[in-house]
Amino acid sequence: MLEDTTPAFANLIRRIIIGTVPTIAIEDIEFKYNDSILYDEMIALRLGLIPLTTDLKTYNFPENCKCKGKGCARCSVVLSLKAKGPATVYASDLKSKDPKIKPVFPETPIVKLLKGQKLELIATAVLGKGRNHIKWGPGTAFYQYKPIIELNNCTNEKIVEICPKQIFQLKNNKIVVNKDKIFDCHLCGACTDECKDGSIKVKGDKNNLIFNVESWGQLPVKEILTKASEIIDDNLNELSDKLKKAK
Ligand code: SF4
Ligand SMILES: [Zn+2]
Repeated sequence: MLEDTTPAFANLIRRIIIGTVPTIAIEDIEFKYNDSILYDEMIALRLGLIPLTTDLKTYNFPENCKCKGKGCARCSVVLSLKAKGPATVYASDLKSKDPKIKPVFPETPIVKLLKGQKLELIATAVLGKGRNHIKWGPGTAFYQYKPIIELNNCTNEKIVEICPKQIFQLKNNKIVVNKDKIFDCHLCGACTDECKDGSIKVKGDKNNLIFNVESWGQLPVKEILTKASEIIDDNLNELSDKLKKAK
């Protein structure tokens, strides 16, 4: 729950998470052999989208690194892949030079090789931001207003069936709100459409929001949120410094 807030503030956190909290993903690939049915570009796309466990403490963005983007152990990690058919090539076949940076889901299939076919490549993964390519996005974030449901002697039992989230139940022949499910209400309005006499009122509380974050696996949710708040802090400090210098 984000309490005593506004949708604008929740949206700021959402956008920072999706577009700015960085992760590591494969950016460059050198193919040595590819006899598979998929073109190099297709395999490169698939490899780029494989989520890699990310270590934000060790790695810099290439553009901010001492090597000036040439590529070094502080800003890039090399993963190699060597496979021979007949076989299915999985993400687990990517061998990383840094044990902390590896595929989150090792069973992700990349391509099938027939007898005698070979796939051999060297991939370089770097830190990046979701706003430049979604492969660097750490997850998704969304929010909804906290539902407020008021029953004023409602007797229309149809709403128990109509509500897609089973918010209402019959207790001793009386319609009541199931308090355990109240946060499932997605404010669809089906119940108020059915009871137009005002015996049900449903509205969203714009100042108390249910904020959801789902990680793609590169970073734990707590780290995503911590990093997002650091980024917001840094941006505000930069703004404040610039304002002090402005005339
Ligand atoms: S608004 Fe929709 S989900 Fe919420 S209680 Fe009414 S019918 Fe159920
Ligand atoms: Zn570097």
